[in-house]
Amino acid sequence: MMSDGDTTAMSLETTLAIIKPDAVRAGNTGHIIQRITDAGFRLRGMRLMHLTRPQAEGFYAVHRERPFFGELVDFMCSGPVVVMALEKEDAVRAWRDLMGPTNSKDAPKGTIRGDFGTDVGENAVHGSDSPENATTEVAFFFATSELL
Ligand code: UDP
Repeated sequence: MMSDGDTTAMSLETTLAIIKPDAVRAGNTGHIIQRITDAGFRLRGMRLMHLTRPQAEGFYAVHRERPFFGELVDFMCSGPVVVMALEKEDAVRAWRDLMGPTNSKDAPKGTIRGDFGTDVGENAVHGSDSPENATTEVAFFFATSELL
């Protein structure tokens, strides 16, 4: 616990969140944004877009050797997504906690994947998994001048 006068503070971070095509298609965009703001994240950037195949392949390049890569790219290009830059203390971990685990079937009720995801692939949302990747992923979608 931090006490009065404690100068140690968690760092203010910005993480990249994506509302994936399954959740946009199902009409859950508003519900998910409500949860994000209720949890105290500040929106620094937000855009509705339909990813091209090269964009989806580039964004998920770290997974290109994985067996699910083709399916993941097809899914991410299957309809509009909402990309967001979210700011909060410890934002990377806080957003991963709010999302829940990768497989929606293992995700507890009350997490976004638990409530809005379907399975391991169609899991409603993306979140950066480290502060380093968050920096790269935010820059993938937002120019510095677009971050408020
Ligand atoms: N994915 C999939 N099949 C798998 C594992 C992952 O389709 O067996 C998809 C899923 O949409 C996941 C994304 O690939 O969100 C990235 O996988 P990662 O392991 O990085 O999970 P995340 O960081 O999104 O929880």
